[in-house]
Amino acid sequence: MIPFIDLKTQQQRIRQQIEQAIIKVLDHGQYIMGPEIDELESQLAQRTQRKHAISCANGTDALALVLMALDIKAGDAIFVPSFTFAATAEVVAWLGATPVFVDIDPATFNMCPQSLTQAIQLAKYLQLSPKGVVPVDLFGQPADYNQLIPIAQSEGLWVMADTAQGLGGQYHDQPAGSLGLVATTSFFPAKPLGCYGEGGAIFTNDDQLAHVIRSLRIHGQGEHKYDNVRIGMNGRLETIQAAILLEKLKIFDDELARRNEIAAYYTQGLEEILATAPTLLNHTISSWAQYTVMLPQGCDRDAVVKAMAADGIPTMIYYAKGLHDQIAYGHYPRAHMSATENASHHVLSLPMHPYLTTETQDLIIASLKQALAQQTFKMAS
Ligand SMILES: *Cc1c(COP(=O)(O)O)cnc(C)c1O
Repeated sequence: MIPFIDLKTQQQRIRQQIEQAIIKVLDHGQYIMGPEIDELESQLAQRTQRKHAISCANGTDALALVLMALDIKAGDAIFVPSFTFAATAEVVAWLGATPVFVDIDPATFNMCPQSLTQAIQLAKYLQLSPKGVVPVDLFGQPADYNQLIPIAQSEGLWVMADTAQGLGGQYHDQPAGSLGLVATTSFFPAKPLGCYGEGGAIFTNDDQLAHVIRSLRIHGQGEHKYDNVRIGMNGRLETIQAAILLEKLKIFDDELARRNEIAAYYTQGLEEILATAPTLLNHTISSWAQYTVMLPQGCDRDAVVKAMAADGIPTMIYYAKGLHDQIAYGHYPRAHMSATENASHHVLSLPMHPYLTTETQDLIIASLKQALAQQTFKMAS
């Protein structure tokens, strides 16, 4: 079976360097907040062109730490896409606030500006207090910040970019993570920049926000270690994970270049049969966390998945439901969800990682083409 995401080949490539980096941590013994944390944070700040990069335990805590620092509470409305990983909305609910679901642009799968405007009006009508917007850089493509930020600003809302999937991408020559009041990311192993466990980070230029987040990350500590000046959490990244990430960063640009070549090859191979290969806005570069296509209307997706699996090709459905359709989130307010619903019924994600060979891609493309040809035959007859 072809791997959907190949972490093994990457590990083989840098295995020795990773071992050395881990041994260094074992030697100095500062497992918590060791020197690798500072080094990682300064490299991430540079990459995202931010004054502050704050590492933390995972991408979900990253989102939560920001909402805690911004004092989000019951009665507040936070605008999130429905077509995303659950964590984006989950953290809003943790704090008793209301996630208000926004639809996506059908071409990019990212937050739709018109739908955001509609959702803000809905929240006001429901007598919620609109506070912030959380665009997601879904599948690696930056959201359309030049459209979304002005809408947020005109309503007095902050923007937190959830770039868990997008680190390494670019929007109008600006790196993912550089836009909005604050941005968050995840180092979950399968993300474009993954560690060997859990990890995340927060990026901002706002000194006060950064100060509060650093405190919240360590139980709301004050000037002294055992002063507690606010209610926080244990949200630190482990030194060993920082050491691993520093080695992975050395090959990250090369991997991003490969991901872009691989995506271009998929698009070239699939264009003729799928009008709906992933669409990138002008002046955006995706980190290609996923390569997600839209199958034609009326196509039996389960049959395509089965046919490809029979050829030894794994596929994934990101996401089979919008969050507004999930049991835990169904009661929250939402804008019209037609693009989210259409996408959730037709998306199919293909194997994507920097070590995919042209030969393997040819097999995947041929298998998908054949599965679709069988479908077209069925749909016509
Ligand atoms: C993975 C992911 C997260 C959560 O990151 P974890 O490190 O797994 O907690 C949040 N948002 C999005 C869009 C993600 O893809």
